[in-house]
Amino acid sequence: MATAKAVGVCLLGSTGSIGLSTLDVIARHPQRFRVIALTANSSVDKLAAQCVQFQPRYAVMADADAADQLALVLKQSAPDVQVLSGTDGLQTVAGHEAVDFVMAAIVGAAGLLPSLEAARTGKRVLLANKEALVMSGGLFMQAVRDSRAILLPVDSEHNAILQCLPDNYVAGAAPAGVRNIMLTASGGPFRNLPVSQLSAVTPEQACAHPTWDMGRKISVDSATMMNKGLEVIEAGWLFGLPMENITVVLHRQSLVHSLVEYKDGSVLAQMGNPDMRIPISHALGWPERIESGARRLDLMAVESMQFEAPDKAHYPCLELATSAWCSGGTAPAILNAANEVAVQAFLDERIAFTAIAQVVEQALEQCAVHIADRLDTILADDALARAVANECIDSGKVRVAQ
Ligand code: NAD
Ligand code: MG
Repeated sequence: MATAKAVGVCLLGSTGSIGLSTLDVIARHPQRFRVIALTANSSVDKLAAQCVQFQPRYAVMADADAADQLALVLKQSAPDVQVLSGTDGLQTVAGHEAVDFVMAAIVGAAGLLPSLEAARTGKRVLLANKEALVMSGGLFMQAVRDSRAILLPVDSEHNAILQCLPDNYVAGAAPAGVRNIMLTASGGPFRNLPVSQLSAVTPEQACAHPTWDMGRKISVDSATMMNKGLEVIEAGWLFGLPMENITVVLHRQSLVHSLVEYKDGSVLAQMGNPDMRIPISHALGWPERIESGARRLDLMAVESMQFEAPDKAHYPCLELATSAWCSGGTAPAILNAANEVAVQAFLDERIAFTAIAQVVEQALEQCAVHIADRLDTILADDALARAVANECIDSGKVRVAQ
């Protein structure tokens, strides 16, 4: 009897938190998936070890010097792996004919071009890189429609919503019968801290998330709730809904990952332990269900579940994101770019935690918004917003780290 051909997978950002969880799931299904390409920014040792274990056809380093080092290491340990570099290398593997599924898990705007390439070439796109959709949602969804790519969200909230929608869901089209979607948010590590103490928090505290284990940028975004703001925009594009039909709910336990309210009053929720291998295996296996390795949810051990409205004064970034979404055009790209610069400056201990929102607000005030129908316009506004954000930080106009 003929056995089914293994699915070819390209992992963009394989050395990150989502990348590692994806490889963990893939390793549980060696007959089902074949790793074609692994990529990273500059972590040579980590990518080399992954190449030895998974023997991909390609390994890509965004950084050219790191690619040279990797090629040297792999000459001995995995000589069949071809090493590529730069954005060109990332795009080559994302659109490669041997690749069926692309896990888009590069953090930030750096993931835009390869993620878009996967959408343009009709792959199954497993989207973790929400920043790509925030920046270029219109172009991205058009590319998905034109190439008949299958776009499956890996972000736990959006994956939860997908699981609660009817089977005939079409990416970007408002699902029939839905009144509202509710995105849950943990509130991050500072949810119990008085607003007056937020300016003194450190990067280490910000990265110590109470329920999820994630990369540093998204951890800070969770602490400011910019992450939820980006997710509102992501949900708008994925599910074709306006702002007024998307609600953010604070849910400290991170067990309900999001909910869909239907017109008849039914509310469907997806639950599970907070483990990204669950949405990742859903997107890898869809429409089948496959083993993820996640711990089973023990409902009897759950003491309580709370749902609250987020406090606006605590999370100014959430409001900045929703207002950028309402402005439309390149405003979300400007917001995203300024946030990336501000988060890095906070992680480098150059500005205070509370200055992140100030930098983003300045960029939104100073940068003109354009129609986001061309990639070069989006990239130009991204670059301008980064310049404005850097200027704002360098000039000391915002609160500096203590
Ligand atoms: P991470 O920082 O742990 O990993 C990022 C990956 O991207 C690494 O492999 C890194 O080498 C690569 N990378 C970084 N900069 C790059 C560049 N300039 N060019 C090419 N590659 C680069 O991040 P993460 O937590 O895995 O998050 C990845 C994406 O998934 C983000 O967009 C994040 O918002 C999203 N996401 C993450 C989680 C989570 O639980 N970690 C949950 C939902 C969504
Ligand atoms: Mg999320």
